[in-house]
Amino acid sequence: MVELRHPPGTFDVLPAASGPWQIVLSTFSRVVAGAGYGLILTPTFEDIGVFQRIGESTDVVRKEMYDFLDKGERHVALRPEQTASVVRAYIEHRPVTPWKAWYAGSQFRFERPQAGRYREFHQLGIEAFGSADADLDVEVVALGWEFYRALGVNRLELLLNSLGDASCRPAYRQLLVAYLKSHRQELCDEHAHRIEENPLRVLDCKRPQCRSVVAGAPRQIDHLCDDCAAHFNRVEEGLRALSIPFTIQPLLVRGLDYYTRTTFEYAGTGLESAQNALGGGGRYDGLVAAMGGPDTPAVGFALGVERILLALEADAVTLPPVAPLDAFVVDFAGGAQARDLTARLRAAGFRVDRGFDGRSPKSQFKAADRSGARLALIIGPDEAAEGTVGIKDLHEGGEQASVSSGEIVDEVARRLG
Ligand code: AMP
Repeated sequence: MVELRHPPGTFDVLPAASGPWQIVLSTFSRVVAGAGYGLILTPTFEDIGVFQRIGESTDVVRKEMYDFLDKGERHVALRPEQTASVVRAYIEHRPVTPWKAWYAGSQFRFERPQAGRYREFHQLGIEAFGSADADLDVEVVALGWEFYRALGVNRLELLLNSLGDASCRPAYRQLLVAYLKSHRQELCDEHAHRIEENPLRVLDCKRPQCRSVVAGAPRQIDHLCDDCAAHFNRVEEGLRALSIPFTIQPLLVRGLDYYTRTTFEYAGTGLESAQNALGGGGRYDGLVAAMGGPDTPAVGFALGVERILLALEADAVTLPPVAPLDAFVVDFAGGAQARDLTARLRAAGFRVDRGFDGRSPKSQFKAADRSGARLALIIGPDEAAEGTVGIKDLHEGGEQASVSSGEIVDEVARRLG
């Protein structure tokens, strides 16, 4: 029989290794819920149209989507990112604005798997709808920053740019197209033929040919209209006021088409450049309307969980363990006592596991050690007959004591302080 394995570009996280995932998630929810964002859940798959509207010309949508016809002949796709789903939900339910939501979930992209790049990966994100205020951009950028810092990602750089808006981007785009066309021969094969379609993407190309052309290209930041320039100034001022350092990166464009004005990326400077993009986001004032909703400004970010864990590893940060067990009940009497004691302790609010199957004391003590439990509570045939429980501190060592069954819950509470 063929051995069953996880698909390429995916992975399992077993309980022994999932502690950091839990800490990352709980830290994120604490930081963003503390700023008024509420959890949103959206489907893992959507009608393909939801994603097509975010950017027909991006690789994520053109080449990397897991799309298929379902058994009802509907053309659906696994979400490659979650902003589009949140926008779809916003348009469908029309909540009162300002509306702030956070999410955590798997995203799917058919990419070539490599370190830090998977086909199913996990993002944490926030989206805020209904305000064009630059102070909201600052809030969003600052929440991501604060989250990374709370986890201990210290080698962190914030890159910032403005992509202009509908009134200044078209003129800039023309300038850029003219410039790129005059250098068409020097561009990489892919971009030489895609200048008109999405000139901003050329700015993002990592190939050396494009890189040298792009170095001399006109920059949006030098061609902002007055409103966009004022907005950008206010964002810079806000970040300075919060003592969040940033670097203006005029070539920073986001992979997805719908961004306007503020755009930003968090880079992990302790990681190799292929995987140093920890997360990013920006304003997408045009997307809600482009997807058929009312004109609604919006801003948000998406952060990659796998990348965060890589950055923590690179910085040798160990996250605090998720609360370990209080006690482990070792049972080699095989009667009702272990079952009942475990239930009493759990009902009293303690975190308790136990041995099963009447395994040997040695194997149960090993399991107790592995569990990280502070106390072992031992029920052998003698204890079962006498109505007592043996108790031993697994962290401090020392002798095993005997406590009557009626007093054991109080004794556990006393020992755990
Ligand atoms: P994007 O939605 O492309 O802006 O990506 C936001 C963040 O998600 C990136 O900065 C990465 O941290 C993460 N990310 C994107 N694609 C992948 C992938 N294939 N595997 C792991 N993380 C990813």
